Amino acid sequence: MISLVVVGAAGRMGRAIEEAAATLDDVRVRVRIDRTGTVAVSAAKSVGAGGARAGYASSGIDGTVEDLGRVLEAGDVVVDFSGPEGACRAAEACAARGVPLVTGTTGLGVRENEVLAAAARRVAVLRAANFSLGVLALRKILGTALAWIPKQWDIEIVERHHRHKADSPSGTALLLAREALQRRGGSDSDLCFGRNGHVGERPSGEIGVHAVRGGSWVGDHTMLFAGAGEWIELRHVAQDRGAFARGAIEAARFVLSAAPGLYTLDDLQVPSS
Ligand code: NAD
Repeated sequence: MISLVVVGAAGRMGRAIEEAAATLDDVRVRVRIDRTGTVAVSAAKSVGAGGARAGYASSGIDGTVEDLGRVLEAGDVVVDFSGPEGACRAAEACAARGVPLVTGTTGLGVRENEVLAAAARRVAVLRAANFSLGVLALRKILGTALAWIPKQWDIEIVERHHRHKADSPSGTALLLAREALQRRGGSDSDLCFGRNGHVGERPSGEIGVHAVRGGSWVGDHTMLFAGAGEWIELRHVAQDRGAFARGAIEAARFVLSAAPGLYTLDDLQVPSS
């Protein structure tokens, strides 16, 4: 039985991890961590807030991120979908206690990336901007597509997410854009985030990245490859967060037996049959 410590447990992804784990015989959510004062944590747990704080119950332990170091021994692996601060705290606690970490938190800055890299020198850390195995497949298909699509064709990426998403563009859109740039020999200065005003003719080699926000879109990424008089579209749509949760649980299985280091979803051997 693999016991998960979920950071950001009261959030959309935290709840999706809970639901995905409940469908599996060999995985359970043992510890739920969220911010102080997040009411939804109490709703998710099996004991009252006072009981959880006083000594931690034998199952369904809940706590705030401040408790993370103390409760880590109750879990085998930490799965974080919280925010930049939660991801950092999780990484520091995992490194201190020798517990592997899977993190899907996006919008991390330089400092947070350094904290993750430092933790990865002590424990296995797997991070991904998108845990969907469909997006992993899209990235592999992108490599093949760009080997065939003429270099003069323009690339634009359009992503759509729910109205609550805090970071923009999505980590996945950035990942797709950078992978395309890498294959075409470009750099971040070729990225164009939206267009407004008299921007003039589109420079060749530019990759446009456009973020649409609204409603309840879970995650929708379209890559457009436009030539003269023809175009190709590659699109991935996540219909529910279970797609990310299932990938994150596969990642949790992976880090359990992995040596210290910084891993990505590419390190997973995903069976194709
Ligand atoms: P959400 O706002 O619904 O949930 C985040 C939860 O984390 C909240 O309950 C919040 O209280 C908690 N939290 C925030 N800071 C915390 C901290 N310091 N300590 C403990 N808990 C803290 O957000 P969400 O939609 O579940 O997304 C969470 C993160 O995961 C975002 O960065 C999002 O972009 C990312 N995400 C990644 C993937 C992926 O596949 N990699 C998929 C979906 C979302």
